[in-house]
Amino acid sequence: MLPEDIETEIDKVLLTEEQISGKLREIARQIEADYEGRDLLLVAVLKGAVMVMADLARELQRHVELDFMAVSSYGKSTHSSGVVRIVKDLDADLTGRNVLIVEDIIDSGLTLQWLRQNLQSRNPASLEVCALLRKPEALKVEIDAKYVGFDIPNDFVVGYGLDYAERYRNLRSIAVLAPHVYS
Ligand code: 5GP
Ligand code: MG
Ligand code: MG
Repeated sequence: MLPEDIETEIDKVLLTEEQISGKLREIARQIEADYEGRDLLLVAVLKGAVMVMADLARELQRHVELDFMAVSSYGKSTHSSGVVRIVKDLDADLTGRNVLIVEDIIDSGLTLQWLRQNLQSRNPASLEVCALLRKPEALKVEIDAKYVGFDIPNDFVVGYGLDYAERYRNLRSIAVLAPHVYS
């Protein structure tokens, strides 16, 4: 359920809290199997991936380390150019580590392409991507993501970490905004 005043700003709920948690549970079991006997460092980019990071990490029944990066895009805020500046770098040294990038959404894929190259240059033992959402119709570059939660239509979505003008990140579901909110 959405708070009543926010409900009027939402066209439809795309994914419920239960659908999201069920999917993260599935992915967590795969990750546990794939990384058995190896260390695991989860890396998330602030702020959108915070909810996925928190819930995925708590689903994992094993030791795991968490680290965060903050980046700022040079382009306009709704469409990424893939040209990124690091505002806060990781604390961890990635040399020899098994790194799993935890992302909210793969849209054009440009941000992730940049991030992958940046982290790969730090010589991790392995580097993979886990994204809760992907928009196949919006992809501009090929992104090799090992774990993807849901492929969704090419609509602007909010909630569960994803914002519009910094709002809606705290919604428990993922929803499509009503057009009157934009205009
Ligand atoms: P990309 O570089 O793949 O085009 O986009 C990466 C970032 O753009 C995401 O991490 C996210 O912050 C933002 N983004 C892309 N699509 C959406 C969307 O549908 N809704 C929201 N709120 N943010 C999005
Ligand atoms: Mg992101
Ligand atoms: Mg945003």
